[in-house]
Formats: sequence, structure tokens, C-alpha cells
Amino acid sequence: MKQLLYKWNILLLITLLVLIFDELFLNLELYKHLMFHIWASPLSMTISYIAVVFIVELLSILLLLSHRYIASVLLILYTIIWLLDINYSLIGGDGFTFNEWKNIIDNSEFIVDGLTMYFSIKGFIYSLIVSLFWYFLYRYLRKKISYRLSIQDTVMVICILLLIDFLVYHKIHKFKHYPTNLKVLHQIFVASYCRGNILDRVEPKHLKIDKSKSFPNIIFIVGESVRGDKLQINGFEKETTPYLVKHQSEIINLGLCVSSFTQSHESNMIMRTGIDMDIIPDISHLHNTYEPLVFYAKKAGYYTMLLDAQSNGITNGLRDVDKQWIDKIVGVDKLNCTIPYRDLTLIKEIVKVLNRKQKTFIHFNKYGSHFNYDDTYPREFEFFKPTNLTRSSKNSNFKDKRLNSYYNSLRWGVDYFFKELIERIKDKDVIVIYISDHGQSLLEDINYKRTHAGDKVEQSIVPLFIYVTPKAKDRLFSLYGKDFLKNKNKLSQFEIFPTILKLLGVETTKLSLFDKIPKRDRYYFSPEGSIGELIFVKKHLFKYNI
Ligand SMILES: [Zn+2]
Repeated sequence: MKQLLYKWNILLLITLLVLIFDELFLNLELYKHLMFHIWASPLSMTISYIAVVFIVELLSILLLLSHRYIASVLLILYTIIWLLDINYSLIGGDGFTFNEWKNIIDNSEFIVDGLTMYFSIKGFIYSLIVSLFWYFLYRYLRKKISYRLSIQDTVMVICILLLIDFLVYHKIHKFKHYPTNLKVLHQIFVASYCRGNILDRVEPKHLKIDKSKSFPNIIFIVGESVRGDKLQINGFEKETTPYLVKHQSEIINLGLCVSSFTQSHESNMIMRTGIDMDIIPDISHLHNTYEPLVFYAKKAGYYTMLLDAQSNGITNGLRDVDKQWIDKIVGVDKLNCTIPYRDLTLIKEIVKVLNRKQKTFIHFNKYGSHFNYDDTYPREFEFFKPTNLTRSSKNSNFKDKRLNSYYNSLRWGVDYFFKELIERIKDKDVIVIYISDHGQSLLEDINYKRTHAGDKVEQSIVPLFIYVTPKAKDRLFSLYGKDFLKNKNKLSQFEIFPTILKLLGVETTKLSLFDKIPKRDRYYFSPEGSIGELIFVKKHLFKYNI
């Protein structure tokens, strides 16, 4: 008995070392991220997470102590898993996750490229070290411990693993925080499951278009990480939008709006395809059948353009099949400028296309104010000081600097951008709808380091305003009156899709910002599984005093 206990102590000790080596050392970046998460969460969650990781690793070793063949298969499997995860960790991010696998299977003709293009010698050596470590550990343990798991016991252990897995998911809600051994398998499983269920777009049966209600030029601009209550036009005390304040009479400010999601992919997808709140969580993947705005614009006879300062365009819920509705895409691959100038450079595309005198619908996904804020504005536009870049003041704390950087980003990305845009389109016949994809956490809780994609209410506060040139203004008010101005501070991102449809002249029964908004609670969603398919999500009541 004593001897058995002694052996188990050794086993525990080794397991602990493996745990530290595998999870802490090789996934250092992941752990840093996780530690932020843990510091912001209750102690019980921290303890439960560490305990669960520990148990999973321990069980993994026990599995290796099972039948020789099972052990060999597992060892090979783990080697492949570590190889994938370590290589993808080395290029930054969370290692091999759902998104990586999804990208690979979405482009199945490039499956070999996808699996190999990021492989580095360093990653290979690291994973080899881990695999060898496990192999020798396995050999050592087999020699030292005569105990073997029977086939039945192995099945039992696998069942326990699955149960723990399930509990981890429900406790932590993040697949990417799983121990490597399980995480990769899980992500592959979930991504493949979603993939199998991606449905084709379905064209709406009775599309009614009334051209007399359409606007000649519509620009739909989606900002990035712009928090509505931090704009001066919405009453914020800092001079984040001096130009817009000065030209307040030219814009229709609809105040603070609630974003549908706290993460770009989903919120953009909802605005682009008009996903209804009541189908979320969308277990049946119904939202994939919804046609995007560009489809309606094309059907309504518009020249359609997609501008994207963040990617090459076909992201955030758009698919390759949607390209048929887009006449021109200008993404970052066609931009030859630094990050702060991406949005501004795309204004040239807008002006160019508006000069063509053809009905035009432009969908613009801005780079905006995505963290890291100091990357988003030029040095000479550092108005609020000190930032992390100035490094001049010894007395200011980290939070003040972070905020100053963010305010500079807003002043450049929202205010200066609109100054440039408005000056160049004001003599045309144009209506511009501007909203942000989600809000931002700005160290309100100093221990909470996430900027968005969490469940905090400030991550759902977005600005919403309309800029309408003098030529288009009359049409707007004659079609919709002025009652909709009363909707200020009452709107939700779910109203954006129907709003754009109306501007395109497409009939819709859904609530738009021009309709009378009933008294109601507003909700936003947060991602709970980093999956982008609207399945693992959490719904929150928007509680914020405006
Ligand atoms: Zn975003």
C-alpha cells in the first residue's frame, strides 16, 4: 500500500511538471491571455480551471499507461496535435483553434497549404521535444508502474474526460482555453460540425422594390471598436469629435445605439444579412440562408462596392458566393499605405465611384479604432497626451495613457475621417449611415484587460448617425418625416439591416430606424465559444443609463 502511494506521488509530481511544461511554457502567450481572464474572474473559477487542467493532464498520462496499442495511437495523435498547436501559437494568437481549422476546410483545395504554411523549424523542434518528453515519460512510467488500465478502464477514462470537457465548456465557455491535448480535437470537431451544416443562401420569394423610395447613393459605414459615449457629439467632455460638433446641424445624430454583439464577426454578420434576434442561438445555422445587403442592392439596380480596411473583403459573414452581387471590392490587398491611412485612402474610391453618376451602394468596413489604439492614428495627430508612445510623463498611469491613445484614435478615425469624407461628397446626392461594430471596455475595471468580445455592457455601446447631403435631405424627410428623430438613444443594431433595405427601396416589414420604436428592452450578445456561428452565445439585457 505504502509503495503504491509512493508511486502515485511520483506520478502526480511528474504530471505537474508535464502540466507546467505543456501548458505554461509552450502556450505562454495563451496563458498570459488566460491569466488576464482569470484575474478578472472569481477565485472559484481560477481554482476550478487549474484543477480541471490538472485532471485532464493526469488522465492523459493514465491513458498512456493503458494498453500498448492505445498508448501508441494516443502518442501519435498528441504529437500531431502539439505540432499544430505549437506552430499556430508561434505565429501569434491562440494556437490551433476553430478559426484555423475552419479556414482550412473552407478552402479545402488548399488543405495541405493550410496545414503546412505556418510550420517552422522552431515549432517542429518544440513539438518534437514535447513528444519525446511524453514518450520517455511513458516508457519510464511503464517500467516503474506495473499498473495497467484495462480496455474497460480506458473507455471509462475517456468518458470521464468527455464529462470534464463538457464541464470545462460550461464553466469557462472558451474552447481555446482547453488543455492542448483536448482543445485541438474539440475545435476540429466543432468546426467540422458547423461546416457540415452550412446552408446555401436562399433568395427571398417576394422581393418588392419601389424605386421611388430609393436613394441614389447610399454609403453604409461600419466603424471598428468605436464606443458611442466617448464621442463628443454624444456629450463626452473631451474633444474627440470637434469637427462633427461644429457641423452638428449637418448630421442626424441618433445617439447611442446597442450593438447586437460584442465581437466584430457576428455584429457585422447581423448587420449585413439581417439576422433576427429570435433565431439566436442559431442551432440550425439558419442565418446562412440569409442574403446579404449587396444582394438586395444589386437586385434594386445599384452599382455595388465593398470597401474593407481590415481584410480583403469576403469576411464577417460574407461568402464567396456573394461576390456575384459585388461589382467592385477594394480590400487591404489593394491598399498601399500604413494602417492610419487605410480608411482615408478608401475615401478616394468613394469619390471616384460617385462621379460615375450611377446609383451606387457602398459598404465600407473601416479599420477604425481597433486595439492597439496607437497604431490607428499618425504620430502628428497625437492630441491627447501622454499616450504610451509619448513616454514623457512619469506621473501618469497606464490607464490614463491608454485612454488618451483611444481618444486620439477616435479623433482621427471618426472625426478627421468624416471631415475628409464630408468635404469631398457634400455637393453630391448621398446618404451615409454610420455605426460601429461594437463598443469597448476601457479599463473601467483595471483587472479586466479585454477590450471587446466579452460580456461587459460598455462593449455594446455604439454611435449611430446619418450624414445626408443637402441634395438628399429633402427626400429623406419627405419619405419618413421627422418623427424618427425621436428614436435617438432608443435603437439597436438589429434595426440597421432593415434601414438599409428601405434606403435601397426594398420593402421590409422589419423594424427600421425610421419606424416608431416601441417601448422595449434591448439586448446584446457575447460570444461564448469563439465560434462565429451564433451558437455558443450569451444574451444580456442592456442596462446603461443614457
Ligand atoms: Zn470589431
